[in-house]
Amino acid sequence: AKPAGRHFHRGPQLWTSLTLADFEAINRCEKPLPKNFNFAADVLDQWSQKEKSGERPANPALWWVNGQGDEVKWSFQELGSLSRKAANVLTKPCGLQRGDRVAVILPRIPEWWLINVACMRTGLVFMPGTTQLTRKDILYRLQASKAKCIVASEEVAPVVDSIVSECPNLKTKLLVSPHRWDGWLSFQELLPSASEEHSCVETGSQDPMAIYFTSGTTGSPKMAQHSQSSLGIGYTLCGRYWLDLTPSDIMWNMSDTGWVKAAIGSVFSTWLQGACVFVHRMAQFDTDTFLDTLTTYPITTLCSAPTVYRMLVQKDLKRYQFKRLRHCVTGGEPLNPEVLEQWKVQTGLELYEGYGQTEVGIICANRKGQEIKPGSMGKGVVPYDVQIIDENGNVLPSGKEGEIALRLDSTRPFCFFSEYVDNPEKTDATIRGNFYVTGDRGVMDNDGYFWFVGRADDVIISSGYRIGPFEVESALIEHPAVVESAVVSSPDPIRGEVVKAFVVLAAPFKSSNREKLTAELQDHVKNSTAPYKYPRKVEFVQELPKTITGKIKRNVLRDQEWGRA
Ligand code: ATP
Ligand code: MG
Repeated sequence: AKPAGRHFHRGPQLWTSLTLADFEAINRCEKPLPKNFNFAADVLDQWSQKEKSGERPANPALWWVNGQGDEVKWSFQELGSLSRKAANVLTKPCGLQRGDRVAVILPRIPEWWLINVACMRTGLVFMPGTTQLTRKDILYRLQASKAKCIVASEEVAPVVDSIVSECPNLKTKLLVSPHRWDGWLSFQELLPSASEEHSCVETGSQDPMAIYFTSGTTGSPKMAQHSQSSLGIGYTLCGRYWLDLTPSDIMWNMSDTGWVKAAIGSVFSTWLQGACVFVHRMAQFDTDTFLDTLTTYPITTLCSAPTVYRMLVQKDLKRYQFKRLRHCVTGGEPLNPEVLEQWKVQTGLELYEGYGQTEVGIICANRKGQEIKPGSMGKGVVPYDVQIIDENGNVLPSGKEGEIALRLDSTRPFCFFSEYVDNPEKTDATIRGNFYVTGDRGVMDNDGYFWFVGRADDVIISSGYRIGPFEVESALIEHPAVVESAVVSSPDPIRGEVVKAFVVLAAPFKSSNREKLTAELQDHVKNSTAPYKYPRKVEFVQELPKTITGKIKRNVLRDQEWGRA
């Protein structure tokens, strides 16, 4: 019998040549990118080897629970053999070929990880989406990507069936469910009988690996295509220095499967470091389940959105004894210093914020061990040279507000997205002179720490002053009445535009006198920031409009204010 696995094709010396130290050196631009790279063969299969030879602690590769007593634990070897079977399902009964795009709309179930790795092994382009997508979203994604296959769960299958006639490129529908569904192949039926023998394809480092959609905070989500190495090697330093992971750690990243944060926290950073990916099925976020999970399981490392931490600090966290939690991170949105402070007081743990984008990954972060300045996103991360620039692409000195940008050398950094699919104009528009522009505004201080001001579109200009919404929101949240808020511009006959705050009240304040409370909040902001920033208008609301990932959609409120809704 022919030996299975990629080493048969490439020769054993090549297959084993890349180590974690090499990946670090590549990220630091001290070593060139290898011609070929495949995360399944070059990272996962190597951890399997280490597991076999006892060089890795007995810590699962994937640990999944659903809160109802069901549990899945896979070692790297089990993940290896199951994902080889899954690879054979995708190429044989599904008839997919290298380069084909596969839309994967699954909740947080173990099969998402299997299909993800199976796509790497077969050179298919993995394109995840959240199960909360609507019919219109799914249609857009299938059409725009010309996906050949959709992998979906039961809740999504009927929606797909209702649009399939409008998607001429879609050839195969694969269902992940214990039940059968007419017109769909069944993953559960095909997997057990699939062969375990599979040779991982040789992929070039720059070959496409995945398409991740941006969060859609400012409009339609953009399709950012990533290469084998941008995701597969590019997160080495992030896993080691921001997430502080080792092979003994258990990382719980709460992100939905549809966003790049799942790739960062639940696949690449974690598995590069040989740590365990912990997953809770949790269909809906719920603080009690969340806290129970941390007290029940030996999770060491936690990543969640700021919105989750904002909800959590409303609870009396001192009552909970977390089992093994030692490192907490957050990102995706600005973290209010008050929340960081509360989290620390209540749990004794720091919160390490990172700032990044679907397109280019982590840009700034608070490294483990580095002094945290509350309200700052930390320093620029290697290999990026992060700068604040003006509209002409000139670098601004520290203390000056401008656009957050990444300096580009003659070649595009390998950890960058390759392009927005089929949208060269939009891809080109991210470049200004020698810089990649993020579309976010910020300030760098004398110590090289970055401070987020707001998305470029969210900055408010009132009576000639520029006001960043985040600072005002952070001042408001210091007040005990405020759970969270969104600050946007609102029309004003004299000033052009003024600051308006939409405020969600904490339970004990829900019945307070609104006029008195408004005045109190305004005074509080005047005392806590420069007085001209205080919200001249305040509206109390039950909740804020958010993206599926939990980010505040300030543009929706702003459009509403300006009658553009
Ligand atoms: P879209 O591009 O579709 O409008 P999006 O920008 O929210 O959506 P993502 O790529 O998921 O899509 O998010 C990146 C953006 O999130 C950043 O450009 C920034 O505006 C915001 N962001 C991420 N992390 C932080 C952070 N730590 N502090 C402040 N803002 C952050
Ligand atoms: Mg964006």
